[in-house]
Amino acid sequence: MAKPHLDGLSHWRVPEGGTLHLNDYATDARPGSTGDRTRDEARLAELSARLGELQARLYASKERALLLVLQGMDAAGKDGVVRRVFSSVSPLGVRAHAFGVPVGSETQHDFLWRIHSQAPARGEITVFNRSHYEDVIATRVRKLVPLAQVRRRHVHLRAFEELLADEGTAIIKCFLHISREEQGERLRERLREPTKRWKLQASDLSDRALWKDYRAAYEETLPATSSDTAPWYVVPADSRFSRDLMVSELLVAHLEAMDLHYPPSALPASTHIPD
Ligand code: AMP
Ligand code: MG
Repeated sequence: MAKPHLDGLSHWRVPEGGTLHLNDYATDARPGSTGDRTRDEARLAELSARLGELQARLYASKERALLLVLQGMDAAGKDGVVRRVFSSVSPLGVRAHAFGVPVGSETQHDFLWRIHSQAPARGEITVFNRSHYEDVIATRVRKLVPLAQVRRRHVHLRAFEELLADEGTAIIKCFLHISREEQGERLRERLREPTKRWKLQASDLSDRALWKDYRAAYEETLPATSSDTAPWYVVPADSRFSRDLMVSELLVAHLEAMDLHYPPSALPASTHIPD
């Protein structure tokens, strides 16, 4: 498959192997921004319309699929991306799934069992709001799974994504990168705002206390699982607007690289439609 044209965004693609230093990636950077809000807004509107067109082709041709994986600390903006980036896309062809702590039969199977069943069908875009990466991040930080098993899971993650890609699914993985200060602001805002308070959980605070451990886990996991077929991108997410702009740029670049076409019509253009 052709590689996506990333232009100014390639710096934000996580290289394969080694250790990632998240300090090298500013949370308040604005990749792809022109520095002029009006022009950036016009660009976002253009990307949004283009995403709608590309999704229509994906849906019509039913040959390929797209999986967008969203990871990040609480309040990093995963829900915001789902709500805002897909506003011009027909609900017929896009689905979002949020993965919480495994329950019931999910706990009785291998960690990929519940994930695979939610992977996109041909013609679909699926967004994972949290994902199989919780099984190597949250489980690792909260010491639910031994480290040796976590590292073995990296191998399975890569093989699983290779399988999806071989069968026609393009995969984009975004780590929404916010600063500790910005997270603090957003969690306080959730507490203040009655319509947002329900979102705040005790685990958000205990995870915030483990900030450094989460960061270290991401620094090891992202390069260990970034590949040509399923690249990770660090998405600076202190600004909601530029976060949405970058995710939209990535989606459009990856969909353009798929070279999608409408299928031929079953009927010739000269077909007479009776009055
Ligand atoms: P939310 O912040 O609303 O997305 O809550 C979902 C919670 O479920 C987060 O604290 C995740 O870390 C947790 N979670 C999701 N998947 C897993 C998993 N496989 N193992 C352990 N915790 C998980
Ligand atoms: Mg939470």
